[in-house]
Amino acid sequence: MRWTRSLIPTLRDDPADAEAISHKLMVRAGLVRQLAAGIYVYLPLGLRVLEKINAIIREEMNGIGGQEITMPVLHPAELWQQSGRWDVIGGEMFRLKDRNGRDMCLGMTHEEIIAWIAAREIRSYRDLPQIWYQIQTKERDEARPRSGVLRTREFLMKDSYTLDPDAAALEISYHAHKDAYRRIFDRCGVGYVVVESDPGMMGGSGSHEFMAPSAAGEDEVALCDACGYAANVELARGVPTEPAPSSAKPEEVATPGAHTIAEVSTQLKVDPAATIKTLVFIGPDGPVLALVRGDHALHERKLARALRAESRPAHPDEVKRHLGVSPGSIGPVGVRGARIVADLSLRRGRYVVGANRDGFHQTGVAPGQDFQCEWADLQVALAGEGCPNCGKPLRIERVIEVGNIFKLGTKYSVPLGAMYLDERGQQQPIVMGSYGIGPARIAASAVEQRHDADGIVWPWAIAPFHVHLVPVAVKDAGQMAAAEEIYRDLRQAGFEVLMDDREERAGVKFKDADLLGVPIRVTIGNALAKEGVVEIRQRSTRADRRVPKAEVVATVREIAKTIS
Ligand code: ATP
Ligand code: MG
Repeated sequence: MRWTRSLIPTLRDDPADAEAISHKLMVRAGLVRQLAAGIYVYLPLGLRVLEKINAIIREEMNGIGGQEITMPVLHPAELWQQSGRWDVIGGEMFRLKDRNGRDMCLGMTHEEIIAWIAAREIRSYRDLPQIWYQIQTKERDEARPRSGVLRTREFLMKDSYTLDPDAAALEISYHAHKDAYRRIFDRCGVGYVVVESDPGMMGGSGSHEFMAPSAAGEDEVALCDACGYAANVELARGVPTEPAPSSAKPEEVATPGAHTIAEVSTQLKVDPAATIKTLVFIGPDGPVLALVRGDHALHERKLARALRAESRPAHPDEVKRHLGVSPGSIGPVGVRGARIVADLSLRRGRYVVGANRDGFHQTGVAPGQDFQCEWADLQVALAGEGCPNCGKPLRIERVIEVGNIFKLGTKYSVPLGAMYLDERGQQQPIVMGSYGIGPARIAASAVEQRHDADGIVWPWAIAPFHVHLVPVAVKDAGQMAAAEEIYRDLRQAGFEVLMDDREERAGVKFKDADLLGVPIRVTIGNALAKEGVVEIRQRSTRADRRVPKAEVVATVREIAKTIS
């Protein structure tokens, strides 16, 4: 490709609203442009990257027997009503009516459509197993579209679905996907960890997420370097350090002006770990008190799992109405009319809690004795807590979720009637799995993980081009003739080449080359006339070699073998 005939609108400055490095660099390198909040245009170079990722995904999906299909973006509401998700999913789903007033929605994912197809086309155990996949646009009205292409409202997803006769067969399909995913991320040059995750709105019996470590991530995982334990913090449970023992009997003490855990523990001279934080939520059946240790944080996903429902923090006036007290002195003792759920770490010990009287706390309160409650894992795992498997300290890392895999079971096949006849002629529900990957997140994760102060450092396999060819002086007939020759030879040898044939200063061209991050740069400058050589530079190491023009192809080939 010749730069002068291409749309590569590089920018000197970061976009004003960008925080994530991948957001800044992908915009500056002219890969993408934002049309509206969370809606992006992919310009030619951005699309090249995406298509390379998609090609790798296709190869690996085909490799495990996946069959590519394509399903519509526009869905009739009925299928989502049958699965129950029409009512469960809130504002994230784009809903609309057709001209006849029929409810429709834009596909966020395609489990319902797959089950609809299976209900019609799969008859017997002989038709199973099946793996169907697509690389297709998804629409989600994300609450907080952000970080460039990492979280958008319209995005491409590779979603695949497995259909199996039973749980044992699903296990095989699931593991085939897990291995295929490892190969996809390995080949794309993205570093990742595989963690246990919470199946969430997908339902089902097991799931894993593929997480690319990056400061721009919105998720956190707990990792144990000693035994390999790895889980999303939504699920991870560290073994907390023991709080200082307290033998005090329950007693009400004045805590004037103390509202936060820090203020209360300072006033009473107790360790925050010897206090209880009481948080009030409003669930579908009314108020819920969620209790965690004073030095711990509540994880709202964990609370949702414990309650088997979503809830929201109560407003101060709701707290006042239900408990008769302002936030700051809330406690679980003597409370009626609210569900009380306490974190497992509170099973032992005595704690300071709010006394449900403004300006007072109670000391020496033993959960389970001085008040009744349900027990659940509610607490956010912390770095340094013990690994649940081996007790060694956990590490917490920020990550981007690039893919995930779910065992769905029969959650969609039963309501949508996706059945088959087994060997004995009995009707059985098809056992499903669902597997997603975000190509844009792979691209952005690669940028997050591989860049330097000057720009992107693309992995070979997903780089928009392999070679960035820079004739320094386009007006110099000798340089330009050599450039044309090298351009032709490299392309004939199978390399993808971008030739910067602009009449620009060398500095500008080099800056752009660094920004775009093509793995190998070939520069044709004065050294050609003087010494008969051109310069070949590796973007990642910046190592230079000067070789005769005739050796360019062989040298590029040699370097290419060493780059991943
Ligand atoms: P998240 O928790 O980040 O919202 P998700 O669990 O909703 O992700 P899935 O519904 O499982 O994601 O989608 C499968 C894959 O699609 C994700 O692993 C991710 O790579 C990609 N993806 C999901 N939402 C978005 C989005 N808003 N923008 C870009 N890619 C996305
Ligand atoms: Mg989501």
